[in-house]
Amino acid sequence: MLKKMTEDIFQLVVRFKGSMGEVNCYLIKGKNGYTAVDTGIYDTETKETWQNVLDNYHIEKLILTHTHEDHIGLAKWFQEEYAVPVFVSKRGYKEMLKGRDRKAHMDRMKSLIKRHGTPPLPLKIKDFSFIYDFEPDGYFDDFDQIVLGNLPFQAIWTPGHAPDHYCFYNKQEEVMIVGDHVLEHLSPVIGLWMGEELNPLKDYLPSLLELQQYPSRLALPGHGKVMGDLSERITGTYN
Ligand SMILES: [Zn+2]
Repeated sequence: MLKKMTEDIFQLVVRFKGSMGEVNCYLIKGKNGYTAVDTGIYDTETKETWQNVLDNYHIEKLILTHTHEDHIGLAKWFQEEYAVPVFVSKRGYKEMLKGRDRKAHMDRMKSLIKRHGTPPLPLKIKDFSFIYDFEPDGYFDDFDQIVLGNLPFQAIWTPGHAPDHYCFYNKQEEVMIVGDHVLEHLSPVIGLWMGEELNPLKDYLPSLLELQQYPSRLALPGHGKVMGDLSERITGTYN
C-alpha cells in the first residue's frame, strides 16, 4: 500500500469517487513515528484507507500543504479519532475560518459570479464546511524550518492554486513536496475557490518561478505521477 520514494519517504495514494479521484499523501519516517502529509477528502472509502495505515503505523503528526477539501478532508477525523496532532499554516487557518462559514462563502460565490455575468450557482452544492470546524494543534509560516519525520524541510509559500499553498523542501536530499503547485499531467486549477475577487494567476506565475531556486531531483505532487528535476519543467521569467 505504501510506495517507497526515498529511504524515509513513502507515498500513499488515497482514492475516492468524483473530482480528482485520488490524492497522493506522503508518510515520512521519524524516530517518534511517521509524519503524514495531506489526507484526501472526507468519505468512507478514504477513512478505510487511512484506518489501515493508522492501525499499522504510528502517525506522530499530520501536516497540510493547503486546505482544499481533498487535502484537509480527514484532518479533523485524524485529530478526533486517533489523537494525531494537526499542523496547518497560519495562512491556511485563515482559509479554514472562511470555509467554516458556509453561508458567507456561498454569498461571496453568488455575488462574484453575478458580477461577472455567469449563470447562477446550481441549487445543490455539497456542504463540506464541517471539515474545517476544528482547531489545529500547531502552525507554520513562510520559510519556517519544519521537521517531518526525521527530515528538516523548509516551508515555501507558493500561492496560486490556493492562497495558502506551501511546498516543503528538503535541501540535503533535494526533495520537494510540491502539493498541487506543479503536477505532471495537467496544469493546476488556478481558481477563486472562496469567491473572493483576487488575481490568483498573478500570484501563481512568480511563485512557480520561485521554485527554480531550489534544486530538486525528486518532486512529489498531490496528484498524479512523481516528477524528477523540476528545472526542466519550470523555465522562463515573469515580469
Ligand atoms: Zn488537490
